[in-house]
Amino acid sequence: MAIRVYNTLTRQKEPFEPLNPPRVGIYLCGPTVYKPSHIGHAVGPIIFDCVKRYLQFRGYDVTLVINVTDVDDKLIIEADAQNTTVPELAERILGSYLDAMNQLGIDSIDLMPKASEHIGDICDNIQKLIDNDVAYVSGQDVYFDVTRDDDYGKLSSRKVEDQTEHRDVVGETKRNPSDFALWKAAKPDEPDSVIYDSPWGRGRPGWHIECSAMSTRYLGDTFDIHGGGMDLIFPHHENEIAQAESATNKTFVKYWLHHGLTRFNTKKISKSDADMQEALKKMTLSHLLTEFTGEQLRYFVISTHYRRPIEFSDAELDAKKKGLATFHRLFERIERVTQTDLFSQPADSEDEWKSAEKCDADFAGEVDAFAMRFVEMMDDDFNTAGAIATLFDFANRANRFIEENKLETEDNVRARETAIAATRELMRMGQLLGLFRKRAEVSAVGDDELVGKLMGILIDARAQSRKAKQFDIADSIRDQLTDAGVALEDRPDGTLWRIE
Ligand SMILES: [Zn+2]
Repeated sequence: MAIRVYNTLTRQKEPFEPLNPPRVGIYLCGPTVYKPSHIGHAVGPIIFDCVKRYLQFRGYDVTLVINVTDVDDKLIIEADAQNTTVPELAERILGSYLDAMNQLGIDSIDLMPKASEHIGDICDNIQKLIDNDVAYVSGQDVYFDVTRDDDYGKLSSRKVEDQTEHRDVVGETKRNPSDFALWKAAKPDEPDSVIYDSPWGRGRPGWHIECSAMSTRYLGDTFDIHGGGMDLIFPHHENEIAQAESATNKTFVKYWLHHGLTRFNTKKISKSDADMQEALKKMTLSHLLTEFTGEQLRYFVISTHYRRPIEFSDAELDAKKKGLATFHRLFERIERVTQTDLFSQPADSEDEWKSAEKCDADFAGEVDAFAMRFVEMMDDDFNTAGAIATLFDFANRANRFIEENKLETEDNVRARETAIAATRELMRMGQLLGLFRKRAEVSAVGDDELVGKLMGILIDARAQSRKAKQFDIADSIRDQLTDAGVALEDRPDGTLWRIE
């Protein structure tokens, strides 16, 4: 089966046929580094990290470019408010963004070009547009003339004459209200650190031209996939298409992939500014990464299909955290009953499962079916939510296999080997989504010596109650621990506990 992707440009799913297979070029609009990133800013990088991993698994040679917008009015305003310089602000915010990307396991980005380091490319692009008579100089500004581009609006289905909104302030120097800035003249009071030289005077580029200049610089005039949030379709991506295609007379991008936006429930928190500030702080990546692991946040994001909105709430985060724990419990169980270190070697070989000597033909057939289903899901417009659901069924089946073969109590070498190979197969698939790359981190509280002792006392009290047939007391201890987020597992050699 072929991979199919939903293309915003054609509004339908299409077979994925790269321009120059096996090479695939992907460009994703990255952060504007002026304020701390929140969970919504991580969605694109997580999704496209999964897309790249999956395409590589399907035999493609993928280049993933995510830009950094460090030249923008927003940076000037924020640096001024913080009484600092634009370069200092940009470096600091980018540093914390990269740290978050690292914790989220996003390590597949090939290039992160910065706008400030591509002013020459940007000016070359603007000059081409002026030469092609689709852009005009007005004072020391340069504008793109939307009326000179016949198919302007094709991505967002907007017609020039229908447009009432536009990002740039309407200047008297524009020919048409919808024309957008390619180059903006420096204002008198702006610091040197945000001003660049150009053939049209000192100033800085518009945001849209930064992206078309950097994407074509690294991926060529025409490339395969351009991604971004749905909020970027208009005007940003529409303008990118207009600029790139008017400069080269070639198709800019074959497939446009847009991800859904993150929805925050602000009903409860809109009482006061202070509440709102507190709520916004809770959504920043730096804060979330103190409460959740990078893997938990990644799992939270990819549990929803990328084109759908992600509902951000404590309840959703908690539910997904529990979902992910199911897999790590299985890995822990397999490691314990088989005395194997599942994480010691990368589970990236398909051959292990294929060559494994399986003890049970039915189970083996089911594992193969899970693997096929996983591929079908991912082939269908990178349906990570469906892929995770498949892994869930797989994990449940693997747990059942352990029980059916009494692996916890009986020594059955072939069943044990089968269980290990099947679990590695499950891990291999999860790793295509960037999951299961290391053992689940034990909560810091779990390491605490006192907590360990107290848990020992509670487990002992529960065992004594059961011995005395006071099952209501024993059950109450377990239930209360469950409510507190502690799971107990009874095993032949005693009871173990774990923070969920
Ligand atoms: Zn962009």
